[in-house]
Amino acid sequence: MFAEIALAVPGLKPLTYRIPGGERVAKGMRVEVPLGRRILTGVVVDITGHLPREIRNLKSIIKIMDQEPALTEELLVLGKWMAEYYYCSWGEALGAMLPAAYKPVGREMISRTELAKQAVLPRGTARRLMERLSQGALTRRELLRNFGAGAARVLNELHSRGLVNVEIKLPGTRRQPGSENHSVPTDHPPVLNPHQTTARECIWTALDKDKYAAFLLHGVTGSGKTEVYLQAIAHTLEQGRDAIMLVPEIALTTHIRARIAARFGDRAAVLHSGLSLKERAEAWSRIHQGEARVVLGARSAVFAPVKNLGLIVVDEEYESSYKQEDAPRYQARDLAAVRARALGAVLVLGSATPAMESYFNARRERYTLLNLPERVDNKKMPEIRIVDMLREISPRKGPPLFSRQLLDELEKRLATGEQSILFLNRRGYAPLVMCPECRRVITCPDCSVSLVYHRVDDNLRCHLCGRTSPPRPACPQCGAACLRLSGAGTQRVEEELRTYFPSARILRLDQDTIKKRGELEKTLESFGQGRADILVGTQMVAKGMDFPRVTLVGIISADTALHLPDFRAEERTFQIVVQVAGRAGRGGRPGLVLVQTMNVAHPVITLAQSQNYPDFFEREIEQRRLLNYPPYARLASIICRSRNPQAAWNLAQKVSARLKRAAGPQDTILGPAPSPRERVARETRFQILIKSTSHVSRSRVLGALKGLVPPSGSKMALDVDPQNML
Ligand code: ADP
Ligand code: ZN
Repeated sequence: MFAEIALAVPGLKPLTYRIPGGERVAKGMRVEVPLGRRILTGVVVDITGHLPREIRNLKSIIKIMDQEPALTEELLVLGKWMAEYYYCSWGEALGAMLPAAYKPVGREMISRTELAKQAVLPRGTARRLMERLSQGALTRRELLRNFGAGAARVLNELHSRGLVNVEIKLPGTRRQPGSENHSVPTDHPPVLNPHQTTARECIWTALDKDKYAAFLLHGVTGSGKTEVYLQAIAHTLEQGRDAIMLVPEIALTTHIRARIAARFGDRAAVLHSGLSLKERAEAWSRIHQGEARVVLGARSAVFAPVKNLGLIVVDEEYESSYKQEDAPRYQARDLAAVRARALGAVLVLGSATPAMESYFNARRERYTLLNLPERVDNKKMPEIRIVDMLREISPRKGPPLFSRQLLDELEKRLATGEQSILFLNRRGYAPLVMCPECRRVITCPDCSVSLVYHRVDDNLRCHLCGRTSPPRPACPQCGAACLRLSGAGTQRVEEELRTYFPSARILRLDQDTIKKRGELEKTLESFGQGRADILVGTQMVAKGMDFPRVTLVGIISADTALHLPDFRAEERTFQIVVQVAGRAGRGGRPGLVLVQTMNVAHPVITLAQSQNYPDFFEREIEQRRLLNYPPYARLASIICRSRNPQAAWNLAQKVSARLKRAAGPQDTILGPAPSPRERVARETRFQILIKSTSHVSRSRVLGALKGLVPPSGSKMALDVDPQNML
């Protein structure tokens, strides 16, 4: 018998291996196989009794890792679809479906097998290696250190002869204090308001029909969308089916985790990035065994191995974190639709600010639109005021960080004990470091971006490649003695805030403050319990938080995203303003939002002020139509990169020539042009953009790249439906 094995290697089709006699192998099981000098884990995607053609040097499966298939037929098929749609290999797609603990990561422990005790030992390195192992198991790294890199081949040979065992040891388990383990449901659903009721009835009716249906739940912030999801999930369980709920970032949604646990107890599993590998594997196998039937998780939870899927919910479906930015570059929201359709399940996408693509689908009646136009319990939408920062500029100091109005409102909150959130979409202290003499901006030597000054550890940092360097006392170009910091990040907001309000309790939430495990939860918990007055943060503070004591939200600058070279810049600006604003006034008292901007008359700012999504959509969709961007066009972006700029350019030229030859009247090929991030980590990057009117014509064009292998030293990355144009 022979098996087709998909390996997580780019561009590699499934390969045929012999199944060792007497072994039971089924589709979806993970196996170890040799590939060249390596031993890799792959997934069985097919089994045949005879070979379609003669294969020289046919290798055998070394080890069967599962007793039961890890992936069902349904997921294998979904993986194949991904491979075709996103131009990754089938094995890469399947690799994305398995939790990390099931992949060959962690430390590889090498030990002697029982067989080795009786076997005649080989000579040379192999023998010395075996002798060393007879004293106890070693990691692969230790072995290679002792015996030199050449031992890798010897090791593989010993492994394929069954003389050594290679086991993946998982990193130790550390349990998070206070992590979910409420096993009994403790929560009772509230009575829904009329809008919620209508939405729920529509979804229930669709669930009862047992057929694919898709809904877009457009509900303003605080309108009770989550409650509708929970009741839809409850109904799915009553039908004996399973449900998946996706959230953009699981760590930020502690309140949703708590609500799911309280409502569904043991029947729920949370695939949380804060879990250890082992805990994740445990949660995954509870789902796989059918013990957990409600799955809550981020992007990759779309692949949760539930047996009988009835419902997939995608909360805040516009969020760009649903797109995976490394291969396989899939979009979980779109895959949710593909999976739901294949299984006759119901799809519910929800947001206060739907993605243009999703609302467009609702307009075209591919999705049924459900509206929740009001907040629950007659709570008012927050009042949004635009603050003109041009008027606040002082001739000597330039624009201040805080307007007079914002300072006054903060002061009032401090006096009454209410909480405030300040949002700025930039971390660090100062995003620009400039020489006052020659006006040169200090940039990363390896990337084409400016370095960001971090006051907390007093260094300059590149936010692209992570390189840090101590702040230079002098300008590298003209030698001027003192560099000037310009612009502001969250660290500066925090620092200045302390000078205005020395006794206020201030917390900061951004990538830099949550490096340690559990910091994020701690910060959110302390703010939630009222142990701080002001929370300063990046977009993290915009995401779905429900803090009833927050009555003031200040957007330090609404302009940061407005002029980025990305066709989604205005959409993002609208979303972020409305979402951050939505954190205010969720409790009893009304909320106030101050939006500081230099662009008071910009239509996106004024539409965000009135929180008028439909008008925003009309304006934006017209632009997309005129400029031929999604949802009117299907995009793909290709980045060619190399440390050698000429090599990157040559590759880009070759790629674009092939694409242009294959392009028809429905396709436009733009570029190659320097990518907006022209250099990253010493590599020069050229970008090519494909715009097609349909998926079919785009895939015909992309088909022209088949078989193109970049020369060594150059790389090519293909991104289908790119989320980020930078
Ligand atoms: P959204 O997801 O739209 O922002 P949530 O579902 O989180 O809104 O609801 C906001 C708050 O209102 C939550 O604390 C939730 O428990 C509460 N809530 C939701 N629906 C109702 C209802 N029908 N009656 C009373 N409270 C509700
Ligand atoms: Zn850099």
